Amino acid sequence: MNTPALSLIKSDLPEKWQEILADLITDPKELLDFLELEEAANPYSPVACTQFPVKVPRPFAERMEKGNWHDPLLRQVWPDLAEEVTDPLRSEDPLQESDFNDKPGLLHKYHGRVLLTVAPHCAIHCRYCFRRHFDYAANTPGRARWRETLDYIAQDTTIEEVILSGGDPLAAPDGYLRWLLNELDAIDHVRTLRIHTRLPIVIPQRITAELRDILNSLRCQVVVVLHCNHHAELDDRVFEVFSALAEDGHLLLNQSVLLKGVNDNAASLIALNKALFSQRVLPYYLHLPDAVTGTGHFDVSEVRGKQLIDELRSQLPGYLVPTLVREEPGKSSKTRLA
Ligand code: SF4
Repeated sequence: MNTPALSLIKSDLPEKWQEILADLITDPKELLDFLELEEAANPYSPVACTQFPVKVPRPFAERMEKGNWHDPLLRQVWPDLAEEVTDPLRSEDPLQESDFNDKPGLLHKYHGRVLLTVAPHCAIHCRYCFRRHFDYAANTPGRARWRETLDYIAQDTTIEEVILSGGDPLAAPDGYLRWLLNELDAIDHVRTLRIHTRLPIVIPQRITAELRDILNSLRCQVVVVLHCNHHAELDDRVFEVFSALAEDGHLLLNQSVLLKGVNDNAASLIALNKALFSQRVLPYYLHLPDAVTGTGHFDVSEVRGKQLIDELRSQLPGYLVPTLVREEPGKSSKTRLA
């Protein structure tokens, strides 16, 4: 089947997602210049930039408000001095994922499903990321090393769902994705292929006709779990790709992280979930941030998270209220809090 191209909304940016990916903003000073902000008001941390380099796609930067240090998109990517704060209660691997990582690129934490780290990088570096210290180099196999992992999945008939994660799996080239998805699709007991991605939001140009063809050719049900934290991340171009994916018959869900200074108020979460639903995306999880080293300035308490869910329940239909969750090391599923 040949999927028609999207009716592209005009932009000054290149149309090829690879060109946008090759031209990310990686210098905090360039981001400040673009946003017409003075660094003296909020200096960045060179240490944080070394540990987890700045990466901001230009389509995402264009949605930030110029001159506003409190912009919720800027806060998610700004390498704040607070990242240098050390805290013995925080860790580089708070979920102890390395304990579940005995095949190349595979995490098998939950019954019935496995997670594959498909791409060694993301298009954006979210400063709160729970995998900011993850060893992608050791956990993103090439095609030859995937064989061992594919055999593992083929031999365990309890595995019905494979989650493609990263990095961002859609940062991988189409040829590679086609090969890997087809290999997984050929395993009879795998019924669902779930893609966890932020790329349709930060570089919507990534949803090409070729990628849609790949997804549309699969036997398995495709679930796309988006990651969007604030309604200002959404624009007409992003909505266009959500509509296309929904019209292709894929289930679209969204997960957000509850972040101090970004979305820790009911009005913001309500606006986000209404905007997503207008494009057939359902809220899924609202995560409390994980206790990752260098991210304490984003913390929101469990009590505040529960209050926010109560406020959402009082103003939205149940299907627009995400489940508040926390991941805890060693648990066989996420802990539902509200
Ligand atoms: S896109 Fe996801 S995996 Fe990548 S940096 Fe952001 S939160 Fe982390």
